Amino acid sequence: MADKDLVFKKSYKCPICDSNFKNLTVKQGKAYRESVDFDLKVNFRNIEPLKYDIIMCPVCGYGALERYFERVAPRQRKDIIDKKCQTYVGTDDDKDELTYDDAIERYNNAFVCSEIKNSKNSEIGFMSLKLAWLYRAYSKSLPLEDVKKEELWQKERELLFKAMDNLEVARLKEQSPICGMDDATLDILLAGLCIELEEIDTARKYINSAMMNRNVSVGIRNKIYEFKSTLKRIEDEAQAENE
Ligand SMILES: [Zn+2]
Repeated sequence: MADKDLVFKKSYKCPICDSNFKNLTVKQGKAYRESVDFDLKVNFRNIEPLKYDIIMCPVCGYGALERYFERVAPRQRKDIIDKKCQTYVGTDDDKDELTYDDAIERYNNAFVCSEIKNSKNSEIGFMSLKLAWLYRAYSKSLPLEDVKKEELWQKERELLFKAMDNLEVARLKEQSPICGMDDATLDILLAGLCIELEEIDTARKYINSAMMNRNVSVGIRNKIYEFKSTLKRIEDEAQAENE
């Protein structure tokens, strides 16, 4: 089934220019969960919902993740109008589905808006994580021999670092829940990112923090065990190399 059969046009009101507009959104219950990656990215069998996560006003160009779309302070609104909308030249809003490249453009536009808004680290970190995952999905959608894969992988890694840096600052400075995640989930996400990015000591710190937390779900508890055994394996391998 093509994306266009799984999405619909949902109505929004822009908090910047007050226009009513429609934005493609994945229909409820239409994405079939298939697997979960090491760093908690959920993969779906029939669609990549991350492509549709940025809401963008076709009239003034303001865009953000849905969670943050309406949260605009008066000062931020004024800055977006001055620095974004004045030069924005409208977009073709008639697509019935988005390609990976369309989606990347929307994320990049949302990053520009978040810079103008001077967004919190949590918003920038969460968006970096989602875009990193989108690059991963894009790469997976291409045939093995495609030369573009290397470039997409570089982008993914760059964004995973950006996500980790921003989410670490958010964890210290902002109030929980961060991006809708409870403390243990955020710790486990950060641990997963650290392992992926080979920052093993920091990964251990987050795993220990998650272990101290009494309110963890079974899913997070399983992740803690998984990550602990991954770290053990990495340590054993390092030791074997030294011998
Ligand atoms: Zn607008």
